[in-house]
Amino acid sequence: MHKIKHLFFDLDHTLWDFEKNSEETLTQLFSDYSIGNGTVDIDDFLKAYKKVNHELWDLYNVNKVTKEDIRLKRFPRTYVMVGLSALECPEGIGDEYLEICPHKPHLIEGAIDLLEYLKDKYQLHILSNGFEKTQEIKLRTTGLDKYFDVVVTSESCGHKKPSKEIFDFALEKAGANLENAIMIGDNPITDIKGAKEYGLKTIFFGNEKEVGDFNVQQLIEIKKYL
Ligand SMILES: [Mg+2]
Repeated sequence: MHKIKHLFFDLDHTLWDFEKNSEETLTQLFSDYSIGNGTVDIDDFLKAYKKVNHELWDLYNVNKVTKEDIRLKRFPRTYVMVGLSALECPEGIGDEYLEICPHKPHLIEGAIDLLEYLKDKYQLHILSNGFEKTQEIKLRTTGLDKYFDVVVTSESCGHKKPSKEIFDFALEKAGANLENAIMIGDNPITDIKGAKEYGLKTIFFGNEKEVGDFNVQQLIEIKKYL
């Protein structure tokens, strides 16, 4: 792919280890608030939160709920799912989660190795559906910020992947075009389908299916193609 100059990376679950960082945060909150006072198993709580959060993000990605909805609803819904009352849910817990989680340090295995390899050969950018302030903190805390030129979030753009508008916005901001850019991400719909329909080449990172032009199960395998 000798023409490629610009790489657009998704952040959560692609470079930033969302699962691990989120789990650590939730475990901390579970203990700080003594959630369920011994009646709820931490693993059940983590599993419930993951399911609720995933459902809300899927709805957010198709404009069915807002950022506010995610922030306000994910904890009360998790409480209900583990058999507690939503009324027992502490008011500030959603905000506290957002305060703590972006400061967690864990990256997906091979992320730094890959970025070190790519940094002198390409211009690297972030294209994320996350919240602006949150993604900024994650990039700074993990030291990933030094690798990236343009950082576009759905919040700064006003549109989300997989919409055409956010790809327009990102390419223009980076000075890239369809021929010299590629999208790398873990989400088959927002990252891969969205970019493909827009006309970009794609690298899918994940193990459930092969939806990208190139597909890898480990970040480090991307070196083979770039
Ligand atoms: Mg992702």
